[in-house]
Amino acid sequence: MSATIIDGSAVAKTIRAEIAAEVASMAAGGLAPPHLGVVLCGDDPASATYVRNKGRAAERAGIRFTLLTPSADSSTADILDLCARLSGDPDIDGMLVQLPLPRQIDTGAVLEAVPVAKDADGFHPLNLGRLAAGAAPPVLPGTPLGCMELLRRSGVPIAGSRAVVVGRSVIVGRPLALLLVNADATVTVCHSKTRDLAAVCREADILVAAIGRPGMITAEYVKPGAAVIDVGTTLVDGRLLGDVDRASVEPVAGWLTPVPGGVGPMTVAMLLRNTVALARSRRPAPIP
Ligand code: NDP
Repeated sequence: MSATIIDGSAVAKTIRAEIAAEVASMAAGGLAPPHLGVVLCGDDPASATYVRNKGRAAERAGIRFTLLTPSADSSTADILDLCARLSGDPDIDGMLVQLPLPRQIDTGAVLEAVPVAKDADGFHPLNLGRLAAGAAPPVLPGTPLGCMELLRRSGVPIAGSRAVVVGRSVIVGRPLALLLVNADATVTVCHSKTRDLAAVCREADILVAAIGRPGMITAEYVKPGAAVIDVGTTLVDGRLLGDVDRASVEPVAGWLTPVPGGVGPMTVAMLLRNTVALARSRRPAPIP
């Protein structure tokens, strides 16, 4: 048996078409299209690529996109000023500051300057807190939400299953663990101090690798038939590598997301979905 490869690019394309249809229906109802504002500070090439992809995907879906590009030597105050500009602009529905920020900038202060009503990335503590409380916030962090969509749309059973998430970052591991708990999985979160990681991972019906160590998850970590979600993306000699050693895992797993073409495209699609949700909440409700 060989794993079913989950085609994240195809799923993301379907979702982007659904979003474009929703934006078109807003326009047909006389509502202004959603508007996303992004701050990209500095000249990190990976960040520039991610932001370019977000902009292109937004515009193709009919979402307006405004990009602010302060220089790499900007101060925290400079970035806070730009955040205030976007948050105070009534025409902007959702906003985000691309991470990582240059070292001299206080990332925590900048993230706190994104108001919850415009939190396109879903990183605002109120939204994360709602998730931890078992509620469904209007927006959720894109990568974890994308993983959940891939599981659901691939027919992977979630309720009652054992899920293991390797990685506990605020942008991936922690919110994904909460989403899985809220979907009735029994969840274990692992990290660099976890003892006998392979044995813990082998208990998983759903195994998520969000580590940033290319090829670390080999067949030894995988229960036969498990769904393996590879979030990792590390650029090595110009090639994007995941955390999963596909050659050894594919014959063992039941489902597997590839890198590239798995979780990555879903992150962008979920950002667009968040932007539309924020815009919807700021427009008058349709008349029944
Ligand atoms: P972080 O560096 O913030 O977190 C990595 C996590 O992995 C930490 O919790 C760390 O543990 C854990 N870890 C590190 N080494 C080991 C180990 N040997 N054994 C077990 N756990 C370990 O990374 P992110 O969460 O931001 O990103 C993770 C990966 O996902 C990266 O490759 C990133 O590029 C990718 N990514 C991909 C996205 C996409 O759209 N596809 C979006 C976001 C991220 P500890 O907490 O103890 O340090």
